[in-house]
Amino acid sequence: KTNQISLTFSSISENVGITRLLIASVGAQLDLPLNDIEELKVAVSEAVSNAIIHGYSNNPDYIVFLDLDIANDTLKIVVRDEGCGIPNVEQAMQPAYSTDPERMGLGFVFMQSFMDELQVESTLEVGTTVTMMK
Ligand code: ATP
Ligand code: MG
Repeated sequence: KTNQISLTFSSISENVGITRLLIASVGAQLDLPLNDIEELKVAVSEAVSNAIIHGYSNNPDYIVFLDLDIANDTLKIVVRDEGCGIPNVEQAMQPAYSTDPERMGLGFVFMQSFMDELQVESTLEVGTTVTMMK
């Protein structure tokens, strides 16, 4: 099975739910177990939330990019923003690290544990690309 889906959407939190619906539908198409689908939904929504909240500071004028690629029984998910970027990716990915004292700092932990591969590329003032494989 091969499939490719790209979605671009405004940086508003309401769109997180749309990405969850999309990934759930793709997971069902792949006949994944419900538990795996739940985990995919969490991983995608954490990455998308980060783009909106941190990358774009909730500014609705910016666009988030989501790409789904299915090939050879692997699902590749890319979430990209053209926002502020992350000064230190290694530090940002540490459990419980957050630049916002109100947050748990667990987004990357969920992505890491629910996906088989996680890659984060970020450049200050250019943006952040999160690539995940399952
Ligand atoms: P939680 O996800 O638990 O609500 P959090 O978003 O702070 O809290 P992580 O998702 O693990 O935790 O992200 C850690 C930190 O990395 C964030 O606090 C933020 O500083 C930075 N970060 C993550 N994604 C981005 C992004 N797309 N653009 C800019 N900074 C980011
Ligand atoms: Mg987060």
